Amino acid sequence: MASLPEIQCPTCRKFFAADIHAPSMPFCSMRCKMVDLNHWFSEEVGLPVCTSDEPEDQEEPQAPASPREYRFD
Ligand SMILES: [Zn+2]
Repeated sequence: MASLPEIQCPTCRKFFAADIHAPSMPFCSMRCKMVDLNHWFSEEVGLPVCTSDEPEDQEEPQAPASPREYRFD
C-alpha cells in the first residue's frame, strides 16, 4: 500500500498523513478542525472566546514621557 501524502495541519502546523476519508480533513484531527471553526466564528460574530492566552491589559503603566517637549529650535 502506498504511503499517504503528508500535509500540514493549518491549526497546529503538524505534519500528518492525509486521509481523504477522515472527517477532520484538512486538519490533523477533529479538535484542530473545531479550533479553526471557533476562531472563524469568533471573528465573524465578534464574541469573546474564552482564551487565557492574551490577558487584556487596558492599564498601561507607562509614564507619559514626551521627549518632544524638550526640543530646542
Ligand atoms: Zn492539527
